[in-house]
Amino acid sequence: MERRINGMVDYHLHTARCGHARGSMREYVKRAVQLGFSEIGFADHLPLLNRRDSSLTMDESELPGYLQEIESIREDFPGIEIKAGIEADFFPDLVRETADVLKRYPFDYVIGSVHFLDGWGFDDPRGQAGYAGRRPPEVYEEYFNALIASAESRLFDIIAHPDLIKKYDYRPGVDVSLLYAEAARAIAESGAAVEINTAGLRKPVGEIYPTLDFLELCQEKGAPLTFGSDAHAPEEVGRDFNAAAVLAREAGYRRVATFAGRQMTLADIPLGGMTGGR
Ligand code: ZN
Ligand code: FE
Ligand code: FE
Ligand code: ZN
Repeated sequence: MERRINGMVDYHLHTARCGHARGSMREYVKRAVQLGFSEIGFADHLPLLNRRDSSLTMDESELPGYLQEIESIREDFPGIEIKAGIEADFFPDLVRETADVLKRYPFDYVIGSVHFLDGWGFDDPRGQAGYAGRRPPEVYEEYFNALIASAESRLFDIIAHPDLIKKYDYRPGVDVSLLYAEAARAIAESGAAVEINTAGLRKPVGEIYPTLDFLELCQEKGAPLTFGSDAHAPEEVGRDFNAAAVLAREAGYRRVATFAGRQMTLADIPLGGMTGGR
């Protein structure tokens, strides 16, 4: 099935429930309407299955309210499609438990994220000490192996910010093109889409996730594409989506994946980018 959309799609919006985002869900939607989006999706953090941290995720008891609020906002904003997604952490030893939680809720899509390597929250400002005493080539290999395992778990519809390990401008110091190629192949074979995530531009690395070389490989291997701002504040919705659209086209993408009830549909990427974005 194929259809045209008028605007870009931002599938990675957080909510204040996670404890490190701000603004009401309505403010996020208003900003998206203002920017001309035809479709957006909330993807707040799924509660961690191996620890409780109210500064990282909502409590599981809040999930029904999260989904209900999305439904009630849909009625107030009939001009924009609002999807109910979730961003779930990948833990290699909790694949079955994660699948069990995910199937209890009617999500439109599940974004899978590697934020932890063997318990080390490498993208958390509180985890910075963990970089000391580790060697970049080994950390990169460990990260990409986890990313590959996350795709192979088949838990996820979208693989988030696929080179997040560069967040603090942490560079491998060696050629990692083989890791990119293996990850691209694993993502494509899993049937999941890969995410262009503009949040990296707001982080020390100052680059979109993923880098062009890696994205080109994803495109060549046939992985579909989604876009996300990873907004943790209303004004971050759709941030830098013109740059994201340019990157997508440079990598050879012409279509964006959208989801409903965890089923994928491909739509053309609008040629003109967006109005009001940067
Ligand atoms: Zn977050
Ligand atoms: Fe994330
Ligand atoms: Fe996120
Ligand atoms: Zn994220």
